[in-house]
Amino acid sequence: MGRFCVQCGAEDRRFIHGLCEGCYWKSVEGTPREVGVVFCRACFSHLRGKRWVARRGRDLDEVVIDAAREELLRQTELPEGVEVAGIRGEVLERNPNRGEGGDGSGGGLPARIALTITLRERESGTIREERSEAYVDYRLCQPCGCVVRGRYDAMVQIRAEGRILDAKDNGLVGKVFDDFYRETSGRQEVVEVKEHEGGIDVKFASLNAARLFVKMLQEATGASVSDSPKIVGTDKRTGARVYRTTYAVRFPRLREGDIIEAEGRAYLILGYHRGNAVVRDLEEAGRLGTVGGTGRGRGRKTLPPHAMASAEKVAAERVRRVRVEAKAETFATLLDLTGKYFLDIPSERLPLDMDVGDTGLLISVGGREVLYREDGERR
Ligand SMILES: [Zn+2]
Ligand SMILES: [Zn+2]
Repeated sequence: MGRFCVQCGAEDRRFIHGLCEGCYWKSVEGTPREVGVVFCRACFSHLRGKRWVARRGRDLDEVVIDAAREELLRQTELPEGVEVAGIRGEVLERNPNRGEGGDGSGGGLPARIALTITLRERESGTIREERSEAYVDYRLCQPCGCVVRGRYDAMVQIRAEGRILDAKDNGLVGKVFDDFYRETSGRQEVVEVKEHEGGIDVKFASLNAARLFVKMLQEATGASVSDSPKIVGTDKRTGARVYRTTYAVRFPRLREGDIIEAEGRAYLILGYHRGNAVVRDLEEAGRLGTVGGTGRGRGRKTLPPHAMASAEKVAAERVRRVRVEAKAETFATLLDLTGKYFLDIPSERLPLDMDVGDTGLLISVGGREVLYREDGERR
């Protein structure tokens, strides 16, 4: 007497957990017949739980099918011993009115996806295919909704002290934007970016995003920031006041690459870190030379905002390009490369890392001449 299925009594078949193959697979439920996925119709980000996840991938069909697969997998609950071996997806139906030109989506957004899920019972190795469908709903994500309605919670006005933003400033802003997008994993918080009055105005959908952006700008550039919240109305549903905050961000007068004088000393600004200026003390750099270090740390200091406030850029006529022509016991002879004349300086003023043939900057600061090796930053 052979085994028989406790469900239908069938004999001479493969058995899984006491059931024939047919009855076993009939008993396996857990794959939903239907799932729903939500996409933003403007930026095609995808709603996962309560979060909008930025679109990944160029082909919209694939992006939607991926999301449908992911949702089906999320809602599938299988008994022990059964696993998903694969899910195939295919666009069944398209939304006739809306297309996304140029990406091969065939002139209509995917509206219905056919899904085929392959299940495998591990012990017996038997497989079974189940069919599901995904319905795609298109809405506007929160930031895109703000863009469409022209709504924003915060505005960041980027300006520079005493100049209109130039290529160098714009480059810095661009770098901070890159970092910001990386930090916010591509969430589309920026409603609008516009050049305005020699600066840049950036509108943000949420205050938190603006705050983060401002903090990143400040740390990278040493900018000063002031904020002013303003009541712009009342929420019709809740009756609560609605605020809009404007951040005024001012890039400092003095910036990377500038040679400055602060408290009678000459410094080169290397950049800003956490709002402080990172500088090189040029006199000290020359005095230390390359002795006792890798060269990079020579004379490196940070100057806090209050020290920078009284610092001045060293006027161009007080910076001369020179070349070391000769070196003697007590004097070194320099050639002024602009004026083409020679001058002598006491040997101890010659930086340790400068030799005959090297060019440098001779800076007159605090009544002294400070010589600094010109390519000092690349050593
Ligand atoms: Zn059976
Ligand atoms: Zn969107």
